[in-house]
Amino acid sequence: MSIDTAITTAVIANILMVITYAYLYIQYRHGYFAKWTIAWLLHGLRMAFSETIYIHQSSKLVVVGYIVISFIYSLLVISGTTEFVGKKLSKIWTGTGMFLTVIICFAAIIDIPQYIYMIPGVLFIGSVYIATGIVIRGINIKGIGKTLTSWGFILVGLHLFDMPFLLHINWIAPWGYLLDGVLRFFVAIGIIFVYYEKTRNELDKQRIYYKLLTENATDVIYRYRIIGGHQGFEYISPAIKQLIGYESDDIKSIKDILNIVHHEDRRKINEIIRVMSNNDGFVSFRLRHKNGELVWAEQKASLFFDPDGRPATVDGIVRDVTKRVLLEQDVARLDRLNIAGQMAASLAHEVRNPLTTVQGYLQLMGSRPEFQSFKDQFFMLLNELDRTNGIITEYLSLSKDKLLDIKRRSLNDIVLALHALIQADAVVSKVEVRLKLAKIPELFLDDKEIKQLLLNLTRNAIEAMPAGGLLEIETGAGGGEVFLSVRDQGPGMSQEILQNLGKPFITTKEGGTGLGLAICYRIAGRHNAKLNIETGQTGTMISIRFRKH
Ligand code: ADP
Ligand code: MG
Repeated sequence: MSIDTAITTAVIANILMVITYAYLYIQYRHGYFAKWTIAWLLHGLRMAFSETIYIHQSSKLVVVGYIVISFIYSLLVISGTTEFVGKKLSKIWTGTGMFLTVIICFAAIIDIPQYIYMIPGVLFIGSVYIATGIVIRGINIKGIGKTLTSWGFILVGLHLFDMPFLLHINWIAPWGYLLDGVLRFFVAIGIIFVYYEKTRNELDKQRIYYKLLTENATDVIYRYRIIGGHQGFEYISPAIKQLIGYESDDIKSIKDILNIVHHEDRRKINEIIRVMSNNDGFVSFRLRHKNGELVWAEQKASLFFDPDGRPATVDGIVRDVTKRVLLEQDVARLDRLNIAGQMAASLAHEVRNPLTTVQGYLQLMGSRPEFQSFKDQFFMLLNELDRTNGIITEYLSLSKDKLLDIKRRSLNDIVLALHALIQADAVVSKVEVRLKLAKIPELFLDDKEIKQLLLNLTRNAIEAMPAGGLLEIETGAGGGEVFLSVRDQGPGMSQEILQNLGKPFITTKEGGTGLGLAICYRIAGRHNAKLNIETGQTGTMISIRFRKH
């Protein structure tokens, strides 16, 4: 085999490598691919040079150029490789390389025999190759690419060492060139393998990471396939179990979802499916949990197209927003209640004005001699008006905002002051009110708060009873305590209410707020009093026990 054939083969292989690396650089724009492309270009040049150097005698300029190119090429290959595996090429290597280039060029110019000045250069570059090979062996990637590259580097390095000695043996030289070319080729191909193995490795890691994310997210993540392959839900993350109580495998098609969507929201879902292509906002709807509870869900989905532009999959996220929706509803209800309360207060005020006129005329007419025979009736009318006025005054006093105003007062006086108002409330529901007030010491109380507490309790008691029931309000003292209790003959509290005592917004009534008892607990707490509930099928008694002062 002639040296020409060997070099020609190597040059062709080299051109292929330049094209491959240039392609990889254009595709992925990594610095190391650029370094490798240039390196392979230089290598080609170098081989072209070596042809003229070793076969034909050539000028010193060509020799110097050859030496410089050899060094640059080697350093580029090595720096590209180290960058690729995420390491940094030590400055010492580059520095030594440049220093040697200068010395060797000088040696070539002053006609020192080639095989002598070659030795330090070959030793240096060979060592750098071997070192690079060892670095690559240490990287954490599995596969043939790593073995190919690292051994390629090490063998190229070792093979370089024999160059000064074998170069001049004519029959060996071409084989030496061929071996060198083949080894470098292995390295170049090996790097590409490593690149793909590394990329795949990173992809795998990312896939594991995303899997971890989706499997553990509290939101439900899904993919629904419209065309191609198996149509239906391709993936539903395990959070679905939390949301609706079913496993991912239980949900296979849209139909399975529609089955558990609240019937009023089915139209909405169908609409979403129909106009999927231009929908990317949040949509909320209700789902029926396996345990029967209603769940508010909010979903956002995106449509993905296949290469032909047809809609292929829908990827979406579904979130449980039940808590938020319920809170919004509660706030809205509270706001309505607030408005109703304010309006009632101003209405009461408006009612009181004409009452004053009526009262004035009644008094005036009652004192006229011609009406003396109706004296009793006038007296009764005025009394009723007084009572009405009393109720309105109490009612208005409740709606006014007052700061906590704790004073020594009698619990009995507060009960008596509210008696008319409670009575009025009870009459509407045909309930009888009975007071049992014992002689009790005065307590430190906030007048308005105790009134609110008493009204909340009596309201609940009246609401709990059918017509004809008896509402008893009792005060008493004993054992260092003073108590106020409200007793009714209603059906008692449900288990659910008892389990959630003191929590706001727990109600069994159509228009209820679920705030009454919660407020009573707060008021009792502020008065250092204990709220006690005895409830059963024949009635409920709620008592507040204050400590005696
Ligand atoms: P609301 O009256 O607006 O429902 P409350 O906090 O006053 O809110 O009461 C909460 C729930 O407790 C009521 O819905 C009812 O179910 C229960 N409850 C309260 N008082 C009684 C009572 N005296 N008898 C039976 N159930 C009661
Ligand atoms: Mg209530």
